[in-house]
Amino acid sequence: MSYLVLARKSRPQDFNQVVGQVPIVKTLQNSLVRDRIAHAILFSGVRGVGKTTLARIMAKAINCEQRAADGNPCNKCRSCTEIKADSSLDLYEIDGASNRGIQEIRELKEKIRFLPTSSKYKIIIIDEVHMLTNEAFNALLKTLEEPPSHVFFMFATTELHKIPITILSRCQRYELKRVSAENLKTHFARLAKEEGVQIADAALNLIVRESEGSVRDGLSLLDQVFSYGEKEISANDVVQVLGLVSRDIILNITRALLENNPGSALKALDETFNFGVDLKRFTADLLNAFRTLILCRIEGCQELIDIPREELDAFKKLAEKYGHNTIHMKMNLLMQGVEEMQYSPQPRLTLESTFLKIIQTDDVVPIAGILAKLDTLLAGQPLPKKKPEKITLKTAPSEPEPRITPAPPPERPPVPEETQTNPIPPSSPKRVQQPHKRDVRRDWQEFIAHVKDRKIWMAQDLQRTETIREANGELQLRFADQANCTLLRQKDNVKLLTEFVLDFFQKDLKLRFITPDKGGEKELDNADSPHKLRNKLANDPLVLMATEIFNGQIGDIRVGPRSR
Ligand SMILES: [Zn+2]
Repeated sequence: MSYLVLARKSRPQDFNQVVGQVPIVKTLQNSLVRDRIAHAILFSGVRGVGKTTLARIMAKAINCEQRAADGNPCNKCRSCTEIKADSSLDLYEIDGASNRGIQEIRELKEKIRFLPTSSKYKIIIIDEVHMLTNEAFNALLKTLEEPPSHVFFMFATTELHKIPITILSRCQRYELKRVSAENLKTHFARLAKEEGVQIADAALNLIVRESEGSVRDGLSLLDQVFSYGEKEISANDVVQVLGLVSRDIILNITRALLENNPGSALKALDETFNFGVDLKRFTADLLNAFRTLILCRIEGCQELIDIPREELDAFKKLAEKYGHNTIHMKMNLLMQGVEEMQYSPQPRLTLESTFLKIIQTDDVVPIAGILAKLDTLLAGQPLPKKKPEKITLKTAPSEPEPRITPAPPPERPPVPEETQTNPIPPSSPKRVQQPHKRDVRRDWQEFIAHVKDRKIWMAQDLQRTETIREANGELQLRFADQANCTLLRQKDNVKLLTEFVLDFFQKDLKLRFITPDKGGEKELDNADSPHKLRNKLANDPLVLMATEIFNGQIGDIRVGPRSR
C-alpha cells in the first residue's frame, strides 16, 4: 500500500467536507449558485485552516461540467477528475514564495491571454501571495483591474497586512478562522476511525490542543501518532511521540500553585524536566492554564476558552475555589518569572524560585475584609485606655484643650483621675451596678464599655472626648479636634448615641458637640471640609505606615457616611 499522508488523503473534495468555516463556505456556494463569482478572491488566515483547499474546490466548481444545485463540484466530470489528479491544463497553481518576481508574473500574464484549452475558464491559484515583489504586484494589478472574462484568480495568504491595498481593493476577501476544538476533534476522530486506529479521547484532546486551530497541523500530528504503530493510542503515547507536557502535569502544577503546595509543584516540575520538554512551551502552557482559570471566573467569557470539555470542567472546578484577584496575582508573578527565566543562566532554578514566590503569596483579601476582621479582633479585646488613634484611621488630636468650660472641675484627657471606676466591662462580676445613680462623668468609662458592646467604633470615638459635662438637659462632649467626632455627629449616630445615653444613664439628654474653632469655642454643625479631612487621613502616620508595610498606594479615601 502506498503511503499517503493524511493531509493529502483527507483533503476535502467538496464544500461539505470542509472543516469549520461555515459562513464562508456558504457564501462561496451561494456565489456559485447565483453565478456571481468574483474574478479575484483572496483567502486569508493562519496556516492549515483551508485557504488553498477552498480555492481548489472553487476552481473545480467553476469549471465543473455537472455542478450540483448547491454549487458543489461533481468530482466525476473530466474537469473535476483532471483537477483532482493535478493534470488540468487550465488550472495554474503557483507558490508565491518561489515565484515572486516580475518575470514570473509576466509569464503568467502571457499564459492567460489565451482561451482555456479544455475547460470553460482558466483559473490561477497563487498561494502565499504576500511574498510577491512590489514589481510583481504592480504587474498583476493591471490584470486585476480588467480581468479577462475567461480568467479567475484565487489568492491565499497567511499575512494579509503585507498585501498592497491596491490589490486588496480588487479582491473579494474571505478571512478564515482557526477551526474550533470541537470541530477538529470530530474531524480527527472520524479520520482515526477510517484508518482503523483506536485513539483514546484524552489523546485526541491533546492533538486538538496542539493543532491550535489548524487542521493541517493536527493532521501531521495524527500522522506521527498513527505511524507510532499502535492500534490503540493512549494520551501517554501522544505525550511520548510529540514530546508534550501532559495536561495532567499542567493541571497538577496549577493546582499546587493555587493550593500553596510547594512539594507537589516542585515534584511535578522535576518530572517535566526529566522528560526533557521544551521549557518555553511548558511555561506557555502553564500561563495558558492560568488564563483559562481567570476566564472561568469572568462571567460571559467562557466562550473565549477553546479547550476540550473535560479539561474545561477540571479548570472550572479549580477556579471556583479561588478569587479572581488571587488567580490574577499568581499569574502575574508567573509571567514575571517566565520573563526572568529567558535571561537566566539557570532557567530551572529561576522557575523553581518563581514557584516558591507564587506559593508564598496568600490569598488576596479585599480591604473591606481586613477591616471586618479588625473589627472582630477589636471586639475581643479590652479598649485601649489611650491613643485610640492607633486603631481608627483618623487624625490625632492636634491641639489639646483650648479652653475649659468653667462649671465642672477641669478634667484632663479621656480618663479623669478622679474616676473611681476602672474601665471594666459591665459583665465583670466584681461590680454591683446601681443603674439609677449613674453619673455622667464618674461612670463615663463604664458607659463607653456599654457602647463598646454595641458599637465598637463609637466607643473608640467616645474615648477621644476631652471633657464631658451634663448641663441644662444637655450632654456636652468636648473634642480637641473636629475630626475626632465627625462620625459621631452624623444624624443617625447622634440618634443612636442618645439612645445609649438614655439606656445607660436613664436620662434623656440632648447631645452637644463642642469643638475648637477660630472664633473660639463654638458649636460646629458642619464637619471639616472633605478636602481637608482627606488630606489629614492621607498623611496620618498610621496610614503612611500601612502603605509602607503593604507596599501599597492610597487608592480611595472615603469620609463621611460612605466610610462605614
Ligand atoms: Zn465536475
